[in-house]
Amino acid sequence: MSVVLTRHPVASAVTANGASAAKERKSFLMSVVSARFVPPGRSGLRTNLGAWLRPLDFDGAKRSYGPIHQYEKGVSIDLKQLERGMRAEDLDHKELLELDPHGGVIRFAGQRALLLDAVAMGLLRKYLVENFGLAAARAVLTQFGFAHGWRMAEAMGAEFKWDSDDDWRRAGPRIHTLEGLFRLEPGSTDPLSKAGSTLVASYEAEQHLLHFGHADAPMCWTICGLTSGYISRTAGKEVYALEDRCLGKGDAACHLLARTKDEWGDERGEELRFFEASRLKECLDVSLRRVTDTLKKTEQKLEAHRRTLVRVAGGGEEPFGIIAKSPPMRQLVDLARRVAKVDSTVLIGGESGSGKERIARLLHDESTRATGPFIAVNCGAIAETLLEAELFGHARGAFTGATHDRPGLFEAASSGTLLLDEVGEVSPGMQVKLLRALQEREIRRVGENKSRKVDLRIVAATNRDLAEAVTNGTFRQDLYYRLKVVELRVPPLRERRDDILPLARVLLAEAALRMKRKMTGLAPATADQLLRYDWPGNVRELENTMERAVALARGARVEVEDLPEEIRVVMPKPVAITGKVRPLAEVEKEYILAALDLNGGNQTHTAEQLQIGSATLYRKLKTYRVDAATSK
Ligand SMILES: [Zn+2]
Repeated sequence: MSVVLTRHPVASAVTANGASAAKERKSFLMSVVSARFVPPGRSGLRTNLGAWLRPLDFDGAKRSYGPIHQYEKGVSIDLKQLERGMRAEDLDHKELLELDPHGGVIRFAGQRALLLDAVAMGLLRKYLVENFGLAAARAVLTQFGFAHGWRMAEAMGAEFKWDSDDDWRRAGPRIHTLEGLFRLEPGSTDPLSKAGSTLVASYEAEQHLLHFGHADAPMCWTICGLTSGYISRTAGKEVYALEDRCLGKGDAACHLLARTKDEWGDERGEELRFFEASRLKECLDVSLRRVTDTLKKTEQKLEAHRRTLVRVAGGGEEPFGIIAKSPPMRQLVDLARRVAKVDSTVLIGGESGSGKERIARLLHDESTRATGPFIAVNCGAIAETLLEAELFGHARGAFTGATHDRPGLFEAASSGTLLLDEVGEVSPGMQVKLLRALQEREIRRVGENKSRKVDLRIVAATNRDLAEAVTNGTFRQDLYYRLKVVELRVPPLRERRDDILPLARVLLAEAALRMKRKMTGLAPATADQLLRYDWPGNVRELENTMERAVALARGARVEVEDLPEEIRVVMPKPVAITGKVRPLAEVEKEYILAALDLNGGNQTHTAEQLQIGSATLYRKLKTYRVDAATSK
């Protein structure tokens, strides 16, 4: 075994220990070897021929660096080699990358590193560009790159003893090549040099091409930032790398030059501003302005939309989104408007799809809480165990997955309105908790002992008969009374026939706007069928029907064949209801009078719709009147 220890600071420290020096020398070297040279999962020294010594604190003494050249049986290290510093060419990714066999932590040049899919990085870039604009995305990515480069230079400075600062600097592009960001063209020089650096296969240019196609300017913002950060740290002055050729804009390779601000001069001053922190703020201000403009435009569009709907519905006194031509609906809207002004809890009943949420919305919009939030939660759609946390919030650690404190909907709806939809589906246990919240006007987050005051209006809705549920014992009576301080019932569509056609027209106009189609209205036969049908699915069914019709309609008008089968086949009432055959004359009379009634007594219009001559209609009506007179 031969160990040569010359002029090495650590070695000198060891030899200075006197008699047992040889033994200690051996154990020192063994410890160096065992601590640093045997990669996880491998054993023995033989596998590590040529491996690099990593910086190692030994008795607080200096660090040692260098290759092991040879050993047999024991350890044999040429410590002259240990003395020599690191050169950029010596960097090897097998030495820089440490993989933990159990996963979880990867280290690159001693720093924790992440393996990120290039496409994921590309998607982040796409997201930034699309949402904040090119300038803001460029500022973020340039500065992200700069920080990455700067940190990498620091890590490389601490990790290795470099032959010269020049080696430390030149290691930059090599490291980034090893990281997989690009490939340095063989023989390519330092970006600081006159000739600059040529990069092949830049991942960034590749991702830009993938998501955006050819650019008209260089696109490797992160890589320019990265190179600038690395060189600035190693050169001890601010240096900015910019591309003059880029794969992303159709050049064969990317080409970088790194210069100080003065060296760049004014020519590319605008691009250098992407390295300034204030640039990002400016860009974001611009995007914010753009967002505000878009919002304003959306608002104008909505207003135009509203005006269209008002025109279609023929009248502006109804609240937005509600049609109330029929007496029962008019009554409901009247009542809701009056109730809105007081802060009482309201229970809204009505069949599924009848529009309970719109009434709840009206209660909110016309209340003193209109400027606060309106939040609707479907209690029937949330599992019982989650509902409590959803409504009342939870403390950190209250259950698996509760990683932080979270307020619930009762708190989120503060100063506004909370709609508890499908309240009839709530479990008995949850009913008790709801009752307490309503009575005390305070809630307790799951996993917390402290009560919190809440200030909100509760509106509940259900399609179940809660009174009956109370009788059956499935719904608490005290909660029922607490909820129905005021009770509103939304009539089913079949009980508000006068609303069917105006509502159908509004829903048709809405669907046409959504689908960007021009629709003028309903064919007369279509209107008839809509009126004949019973609408078990209520407004929601009518809405779906209109949407389907817009999708199917060949022309600008909804024809009968654009309606779903069940609506198309509904026969006129006289036969459908009784189910037995009646004299034709009787049915005809009833039908003609009903049609006349529907048209407000307008005979010309009625004759047109019945597709009979007006003289025929006149004659028939006259007979009916004679009949009526004689039967008196
Ligand atoms: Zn490029």
